[in-house]
Amino acid sequence: MKGRFKMAEQKPQGCSGDCSSCSSNCSSREAESLLAPQNQFSNIKHVIGVVSGKGGVGKSMVTSMLAVLMSRMGYKVGILDADITGPSIPKTFGVNSRIMQNEFGLLPAETKTGIKLISVNLLLEEKEAPVLWRGPVIAGAVKQFWQDVVWGDLDYLFVDCPPGTGDVPLTVFQSLPLDGAVIVTSPQDLVSMIVKKAYNMASLMKIPVLGIVENMSYVVCPDCGKSFNIFGSGSESVADELGVELLGKMPIDTSLAQMVDNGVFEHFENEYLAAAAKAIDEKVNK
Ligand code: ADP
Repeated sequence: MKGRFKMAEQKPQGCSGDCSSCSSNCSSREAESLLAPQNQFSNIKHVIGVVSGKGGVGKSMVTSMLAVLMSRMGYKVGILDADITGPSIPKTFGVNSRIMQNEFGLLPAETKTGIKLISVNLLLEEKEAPVLWRGPVIAGAVKQFWQDVVWGDLDYLFVDCPPGTGDVPLTVFQSLPLDGAVIVTSPQDLVSMIVKKAYNMASLMKIPVLGIVENMSYVVCPDCGKSFNIFGSGSESVADELGVELLGKMPIDTSLAQMVDNGVFEHFENEYLAAAAKAIDEKVNK
């Protein structure tokens, strides 16, 4: 599952089959990997992409929660914040330290509980400065976060992908050896087909979709304890239609938003995505 290659097509006349000694860019060049090389001091067992069809559905929160849950399961975990223009992972964990580097590459920051993380916000002098980079530069930064970061030994690296199906998610899908993708969605997106776009993108790139997490599924009334599906529901039917597992549902929970705002997210105590983390662990270790 670790590599994706362009398929070799029929060879033209006179082709010796040795592409290394031929500069021709014909359609029959040997299978060529589009994967970026890993830093020589990184040893990462599983890379999981967390994607969404559009922004604001809680993709970064789900990434952070899955990372914390895996860490609580005893795994060594890292987060690559590939949401370059909207990086929110450092704030979620209350990490402010600037990224350091040595002769082997960039050294990721660490959260209080030992989750390694890299984000463009940890490289900027001013955290509020907008990242006014064009697509290819942003895509290059994501690749660098893979190639130039000394991740060390990790069981899981979660990649918080930028939303949508543009240039940068495409770079993540092509250049990182993803074991699979988790699609985060709100109930509204399920109806509006946005989740299908994310699913189809992963399928076209031959990335297994590990499942869907529905965020902001419901809200629990603090007075009567009753649940309300304020955005409607329907994830089961969409998951069935796509043939993927609905890994979990997370309510709108104001305490979570507060923990993000206060940078203490890794101390959450709920079990919303505990089963989802276990399911992902089982799937990639099969
Ligand atoms: P995305 O990465 O999809 O753009 P974020 O994870 O940054 O979305 O979430 C957007 C905002 O919504 C953040 O302020 C986050 O704290 C809040 N949020 C996300 N999910 C929930 C939830 N289940 N309950 C409460 N607030 C949430």
